[in-house]
Amino acid sequence: MRAHFVALLLAAIAAPAAAQQDFSKAEIKTELLAPGVAVLFGPGGNIGLSYGEDGNVLIDDQYAPLTDKIVAAIAALDPDPVKFVINTHWHGDHTGGNENFGKRGAVILAHDNVRTRMTTAQVMKAFNMTVPPSPKDALPVVTFGDGVTLHINGDTLHVIHLAHAHTDGDALVHWQKADVLHMGDAFMLRDSFPFIDLGSGGSIDGLIAAANRGLALAKPSTRIIPGHGPVATRADLVAYRDMLVDVRAKVAAAIAAKQTLAQLQASKPVARYAMPDGFVKPDQFVETVYTSLSNPPPAPHSH
Ligand SMILES: [Zn+2]
Repeated sequence: MRAHFVALLLAAIAAPAAAQQDFSKAEIKTELLAPGVAVLFGPGGNIGLSYGEDGNVLIDDQYAPLTDKIVAAIAALDPDPVKFVINTHWHGDHTGGNENFGKRGAVILAHDNVRTRMTTAQVMKAFNMTVPPSPKDALPVVTFGDGVTLHINGDTLHVIHLAHAHTDGDALVHWQKADVLHMGDAFMLRDSFPFIDLGSGGSIDGLIAAANRGLALAKPSTRIIPGHGPVATRADLVAYRDMLVDVRAKVAAAIAAKQTLAQLQASKPVARYAMPDGFVKPDQFVETVYTSLSNPPPAPHSH
């Protein structure tokens, strides 16, 4: 099983690796969340969709070989082409369809750092692999710093940057009227500890801040789309945030007590969150938090 999960994780983060994956049997499943709002599930990151009289907006677009299936799933709701694609971050399971949608005329939006990382080779130390630069048509055309707002399909979509969370280019998308929130990989609801991409500027403190940002926007009724896994509730996001805060406190205490990583791991600090089938193992998650707290990213400058 372990090799299977490693393969899944590799595929999950890198489009070039995914290009060799067989998607012929993959299905795109649609769940309606509100009038004009849907989520599309498939092998990659969850896709948010806003549709209606003004045009289709996609939040992330999975892998390139899935574009035709994604287009068919959208057409079942609205036959218009995709007008905008918003990327929640640069990883290939969320941006792999960019080139196809860009060539079809979609305007791609993302945080400044998403474009920066997609224009240069990215070394992913955790997986001993290098992701090459993306072709021009795959790159975000409109980039933003703190965020951007779309006034479309009778709703207001707030796109808000989450600094140094899962990566350094994360954004959430909040449908103000429809009461839907897409958190990208800053929130993954699955039987695994979260993946913090330290090499891409992610951090535990940023991930906690991202969860709190989502909670500040969410009401008990809010439908929350995680980066992966089924649609979640505010209570799920609270539990996730509390887990992150608890693990961070334990790791910080160990660092303050001058424990080595091996000593900390031996004390099984996250055993109460045992997730036997998770692809990020307990020891890996503890190492990531330990490394993150030992080497925090530079504080963002204020505007
Ligand atoms: Zn990701």
